[in-house]
Amino acid sequence: MSITTRFAPSPTGFLHVGGLRTALYAYIHAAQNNGRFILRIEDTDKERFVAGALEDIVASLSWAGIPILEGVGVDKQGVVVQNGSAGPYIQSQRLAVYEDHAQVLLAKGHAYHCFCTKERLDEVRTLQQLQKQPTGYDGLCRGLSQEEVKEKKAQGMSYVIRMHMPDSGTTSFTDSIRGEVSFENALIDDQVLIKTDGFPTYHFAVVVDDHLMGVTHVIRGEEWISSTPKHLALYAMFDWEPPTYAHLSLFVNADKQKMSKRHGDVSVGDFRRAGYLPEALINFVAFLGWNPGDEREIFTLPDLIQEFSFDRVQKTAAVFNREKLDWYNKEWMKRLSLKELADRAQPFFAALGIDVEGEHAGRFLQAVAMERERATTCVEMAEHTMFLFEDTLSYDAALLVWKKSDKETAKKVLATLLHTYSVQHADEWNALFVQAQAEHVMTMLGLDRGHVLWPMRVALSGKEHSPGPFEIAAALGREATCARLTVGLHALEA
Ligand code: GLU
Repeated sequence: MSITTRFAPSPTGFLHVGGLRTALYAYIHAAQNNGRFILRIEDTDKERFVAGALEDIVASLSWAGIPILEGVGVDKQGVVVQNGSAGPYIQSQRLAVYEDHAQVLLAKGHAYHCFCTKERLDEVRTLQQLQKQPTGYDGLCRGLSQEEVKEKKAQGMSYVIRMHMPDSGTTSFTDSIRGEVSFENALIDDQVLIKTDGFPTYHFAVVVDDHLMGVTHVIRGEEWISSTPKHLALYAMFDWEPPTYAHLSLFVNADKQKMSKRHGDVSVGDFRRAGYLPEALINFVAFLGWNPGDEREIFTLPDLIQEFSFDRVQKTAAVFNREKLDWYNKEWMKRLSLKELADRAQPFFAALGIDVEGEHAGRFLQAVAMERERATTCVEMAEHTMFLFEDTLSYDAALLVWKKSDKETAKKVLATLLHTYSVQHADEWNALFVQAQAEHVMTMLGLDRGHVLWPMRVALSGKEHSPGPFEIAAALGREATCARLTVGLHALEA
């Protein structure tokens, strides 16, 4: 059987890491089986629509490396496009499809018009609550005759179309992650299928679309598990084969609270802007709820396609551990080639106003090389090495004096280093040459490393903490190194 999965976000917010994991697992399951993976946009809730959310979802998936061959995309000009023969893939463009399908259920007697007002529904609910009964529609309009319906419509009364849920029995299904799941039909409401404005509800649209688009496996968040019996009832009413379901557990943060924007948890776009690599984020989210059953932790997307299976997806909530994400990012920064990492880091340097293509191109590559084992993110990499690109450093002259040394020594050191680097020429100016000369100065002045390296490093970086002075000098080049040593010396003499 050919396999089709989909990711069906509502454009009610930017893509969250939980959504990324759902999309990832759904994509992987399709890719493992040479199947189709669809991106469908579920925008039937007009009130909760957030401008820019659709574009953000598409851009975030594409940045993460999840290819969307079918469904909704955005072209180079930023225009929303749709690819595939089962479209449209944006639900607000499919209203006629839902209307037709609602008519089918009305004709079969599985759905009915309901004219109850909001006030009446509120009263029913209040009464049920007072009597400690389960809340839900009481079925008043189930019994309306065709004439009554016609009459009320003619009077211009507004109405919804509801499904007629069976009053007894149970609905069971086998979830790929949770196993057997059962719900009492009597506890399930007569769900609204078409709202007063003619828009379908999520429950109706999701079933119609999953069927018409040939979806065989529905992979989604566990918040939808209690809706599944409604969906299965609809499949039965249409006489359609239902898909297989896999409901993924939630993420919780370190305090075991549900992740949400309110708690400062972030969207995929936020991680992207914070300088995380897509490889790292994908690897990290794949492991939130899944593992290969052995010690391996570094997985590329192709590796995941090779190894992932729902058998190893956990039922319990996965803990979103920020330190683990940082660990993954550091690992991935080391794994990319220097050139590749520089390409990825480039926009973050540009964002700090650093022109990495002009006269500082060499310095930029050295900066990346210097920080790839130190920084956690590309943003940190740029921030930590900004001093390399500044024309003048601003620091307090007192910082040049090492805590176990004194001002006179610092002056002597800077003057000697300056003299050494100005007169000693080498074919190549590199960290080894710089180091050899600095060690020569130590011996000459009879000083321990700290006395020499501290003022040197501060004069070159202007910072209390930075990479080592030899690497910095190598990145700066002879001229800038000497200029910075001179500035340091003058600062101490002032
Ligand atoms: N539109 C739903 C959501 O945003 C999709 C749920 C489903 O995959 O069925 O969560």
